[in-house]
Amino acid sequence: MKIICIGRNYALHAKELNNPIPKEPVVFMKPDSAILQSDKPFFIPEFTDNVHHELEIVIKINKVGKHIQKKFAHKYYNSITVGIDFTARDLQSQLKEKGLPWEKAKAFDGSAPIGKFISVDKFSNIQDINFRLEKNGKIVQVGNTNEMLFSIDSLIEQISKYFTLKIGDLIFTGTPAGVGKVEVGDRLEAFIGTDLLLKTHIK
Ligand code: ZN
Repeated sequence: MKIICIGRNYALHAKELNNPIPKEPVVFMKPDSAILQSDKPFFIPEFTDNVHHELEIVIKINKVGKHIQKKFAHKYYNSITVGIDFTARDLQSQLKEKGLPWEKAKAFDGSAPIGKFISVDKFSNIQDINFRLEKNGKIVQVGNTNEMLFSIDSLIEQISKYFTLKIGDLIFTGTPAGVGKVEVGDRLEAFIGTDLLLKTHIK
């Protein structure tokens, strides 16, 4: 399986990192070795002093597809959760400056904690879902999927022009504003609505 991630899908987050608002989705990938199951600790790697949390809505593909039209995209997923796109911001800045790919800063082991999946049937409108991240019991990121620059179905259309989507593939749909540094000892808890779906402890 593969993990496809979207950058700059919320205007306020693009702004907080001084990035332009994209005309089409910014896409990068993480390998399956990046996955961290909920309740497992996250170990800050030795090559960075500034790991940021990026809370994101994650969808799981349940049908193979290529060149999927937006109007059919909802048939290609039926479960959703929250994930964290851990980013070594210091390393990413160096790579961006040199025009190099981001993988070392974004796709390292454990950089993709994933919550428990829930059915999309729970929601009347997938583009109106509240989600949030708490760090040590305090809210640090809140978002609603209605703030996405590219909707989930539009992302699927655009991604599937380039990459065949396969069963089990995950799409990280971008982070709202409020990204920030994690420190050893922090406890992160991520929610959709009132459901606690993802927990990790920083080590
Ligand atoms: Zn992200």
